[in-house]
Amino acid sequence: MSEVTEKVQDTEISEERTEVCFWCGSPKDMKRDKIDKGEKCIVRDYEMCPRCREKFKEGIRLMGVTEEPVVKGMFPIIQEGDITLYPTGSIMQCHEDYVKDILEDDPERLNTVLEHKMMFMPENILEKLIKKVREMDKEIDQT
Ligand SMILES: [Zn+2]
Repeated sequence: MSEVTEKVQDTEISEERTEVCFWCGSPKDMKRDKIDKGEKCIVRDYEMCPRCREKFKEGIRLMGVTEEPVVKGMFPIIQEGDITLYPTGSIMQCHEDYVKDILEDDPERLNTVLEHKMMFMPENILEKLIKKVREMDKEIDQT
């Protein structure tokens, strides 16, 4: 479990909790850089904080999701009909061409993805993809 998903666990409402960004775990309050040790935190939504928005402004964001909550009591990122998805906290940025490739046969979904600049991906697939990209980065570093 990542540091970020652990923070989602505390969903009870309390004034003394600091609202943090689900994606990076930093305070949503931009005047502060980080959470103090032992400080109680809460994730209220899956909106990116300005730091994350800046970091992921290019290309398409691939967000890992599962059908079961990763943390007990967390709220879904999307709920439509029979579909309920929970974010895992995994995220990767990719070039538009990549999504165009994988959604070649699904132009309707492709349009939605391009419009929102983000796409939900099953966690097990995204995990493999992230691993692959990290290995490629390592190879580049070594040459
Ligand atoms: Zn953030």
